[in-house]
Amino acid sequence: MDADDEAVRIEARSEITDVVCSACGSVGTRVHSTYWRRLADRPLGGRRVVLSLHVRRFFCDNTACCRRTFVEQIDLLTRRHARRTQTVGRMLQAIGLAMGARAGARLAPRLGLRTTRAAILRQLRLLPDPPIGTIRVLGVDEFAFRKGRTYGTVLVDVETGRPVDLLPDRAADSLAAWLTEHPGVEIVCRDRNSAFSEATKRAAPNAIQVADRWHLLHSLARAVERTAHAHRPRLRKSISYHPLPPPAAGGLASQDLRYLPLTCTPTLQRDRHEMWATAVFKERHHRMGWPERGSRR
Ligand SMILES: [Zn+2]
Repeated sequence: MDADDEAVRIEARSEITDVVCSACGSVGTRVHSTYWRRLADRPLGGRRVVLSLHVRRFFCDNTACCRRTFVEQIDLLTRRHARRTQTVGRMLQAIGLAMGARAGARLAPRLGLRTTRAAILRQLRLLPDPPIGTIRVLGVDEFAFRKGRTYGTVLVDVETGRPVDLLPDRAADSLAAWLTEHPGVEIVCRDRNSAFSEATKRAAPNAIQVADRWHLLHSLARAVERTAHAHRPRLRKSISYHPLPPPAAGGLASQDLRYLPLTCTPTLQRDRHEMWATAVFKERHHRMGWPERGSRR
C-alpha cells in the first residue's frame, strides 16, 4: 500500500482456487499468463484509490467452449473489461440516476471519482430494464431518431404517463409483435398512422382504438384554417380589424393572436408560426408524460 496527497495505491493478489470460465463454467487448471490489472476503487479520505490486482489468465480446456482463455474475476469486485470496481460502478449509477450523466460527470470528481459523461451512461445501460407489466391504456406515437430519415415508435403507459418501451422503427410488424408479447391492452391511443391501426387490429383485435387529443385538435385546427382560407375575401370584408398592439420585447403574447389580421407581414406570419409550433411542441411533450424542457437531462 502506498499513499500521497492525490491517491492511495493498493496492490493485491488473488489466491482464489477453482477459477471457472465465465462462458462455459468449467474450472481452469492451467495458467496461461499473469498480469497487473488496475481498477479505480471507492475514494478514501477524499483521495482516489487505485487497486492494482495481480490476476491470472487460464486456458479453458472445454473444447466446446467459445473461449480459448479467460481471466479470473473476483466476486463483488471485478467484472470483465471493467476498469473500476463494482462498488464504484454502483456509485456512478446512483449519481447518474439522480443527476443525469452531464451533471453527474461534473459532480463525481468532487467526490473523488474520475469519470466521464459517457462512462456514466455506460453504467446506466448496465441496469436491467424495469418490468413493463400489463398496460391497460397504451399510447403509441412515432419519434425521429433523425428527422426525415429514421423514425422509431414510443410506447407510453397513458395511465401513469411513463414511457414503457421504444421500437426501432414505425412499422406495423414491430408494434404487432410487441402487442403479442404484452397482452392485456384494452385501449390504444394513437395518431392517424395506418400502420399502428393495422398492427392493433392484428395483434389486439379487442382493443379500442382512439385518436389522441393532440391529433384531434391538430386536425380541427387544420380544417378551420382551410375553411377560413376558402372564405378569405368575404371574411376580409366583414371583419373590422382591431388596431395591433405594439409587439412585446420577447415577441407576441399568445392572446395577441386574435388581433392579427388575415393579411399580415412576413414578420407577423413568422411570429404566428413560431407560436403555433411552440404550442404544438409543449402539448405533445406534456401528452407523452415527458418532463419539461428545462428539467431534461
Ligand atoms: Zn470456457
